[in-house]
Amino acid sequence: MATLFTGIKQLLTFAGDLSPRAGAAMRETGLVKNAAVLVEGGVIEAAGPRAAVARHRLAKKARVVETGGICLPGFVDSHTHMVFAEPRLKDFSMRTAGATYQQIKAAGGGIISSIGAVRGQALKPMAAQLARRAARFLECGTTTAEVKSGYGLSLDSELKMLRAVRDAKKLTPLELLPTLLAAHSVPPEFNGDARKYLDYVTAEILPKAAAEKLAVFADIFCEKGYFTPEQTTAYLKEAARLGLRPKVHSEQLSNYGGTRAGAAAGAVSADHADHVYAEDIAAMRDAGTIAALLPASNYYLGLNKFPPARELIAEGVPVALATDFNPGTCPCWNMQFVLSVACTHCAMTPEEALCAATVNGAWALGIGDRCGAVIPGLQADLAFFDADDYRELAYYFGGNQCSLTVKKGRIVHAKK
Ligand SMILES: [Zn+2]
Repeated sequence: MATLFTGIKQLLTFAGDLSPRAGAAMRETGLVKNAAVLVEGGVIEAAGPRAAVARHRLAKKARVVETGGICLPGFVDSHTHMVFAEPRLKDFSMRTAGATYQQIKAAGGGIISSIGAVRGQALKPMAAQLARRAARFLECGTTTAEVKSGYGLSLDSELKMLRAVRDAKKLTPLELLPTLLAAHSVPPEFNGDARKYLDYVTAEILPKAAAEKLAVFADIFCEKGYFTPEQTTAYLKEAARLGLRPKVHSEQLSNYGGTRAGAAAGAVSADHADHVYAEDIAAMRDAGTIAALLPASNYYLGLNKFPPARELIAEGVPVALATDFNPGTCPCWNMQFVLSVACTHCAMTPEEALCAATVNGAWALGIGDRCGAVIPGLQADLAFFDADDYRELAYYFGGNQCSLTVKKGRIVHAKK
């Protein structure tokens, strides 16, 4: 049976070409006032002015949901590390008491503690925990999220993380797209030998993850002390050969060449991009690589520097926004907070930030042809908010204004 969501004060459709949005096109929201969206079989049938949608042949027999408020495409969070066994509360206490990263690391904290906890957790509780976290994303209006491995860093534990994503899909309506991030860091047993560890990942983990179809993407952390640009390009090309789409963590801590290395391997997105220069931006634009900015992590770490969204947009690179939800550098799952930080610290306009969190987020996952906009024929993934004006979503911060979340036409969260 069809469902008619109506009485919408402002609907942002982001109607337009089924392609990533760049430059001035990022400000085109496709705003419709006094709107409705008609949905059937998990797909958008019609969206636009209330009176026009009401004339659709399916509207007469449809179930009617008077929503009021604002309607957007559901947020597409293209970068999360949502599988982890424990929050890093001890690290947080140490940090707030003035400890440096080195002191936290020396006390057994940082990624080492996450690796130990993930290796010790069984698959079933890992999947159940992931599904519980997914519910929090849905409550905040996110309908699709990418999920990375990368806290196992051994064959068994990396595959376990990806299987947890596979199993969690049966427990939550949040759409989860898995990424193999075995090349996140060098595990302690390799004593800092990044080349040897990456050879092991390439020979053992990557082919098995590909053969079992456990991941859609392969990602690597390209940074001084982790993996070099040369290793990044070679690894991502091998991943692509095995059918995994390349992604890269690049230019987060310094300008090191990861963005260009990712672009050279055809990366669908280069993520963080805090320290990109003109040549990196040109490489992204020329390769069609999306810049996925993660400014909530800069906020959490108390940094003064934020990703240069204005330069990227001016140079025609499509910009996406994501949470980077993870236990170490960004324990935030709410895309509404990311909108606020993007507007207040990256000089993005509310229109650009909303485009980056929906349409361009979908393209950063290569799925913009089926979700990320409210266009007939696309998946009916919608988020509704208690607001009179869409700019309120980026203006108010620290809360959750989402009132209703719809995934593939089904109501999966309704505020009580
Ligand atoms: Zn990350």
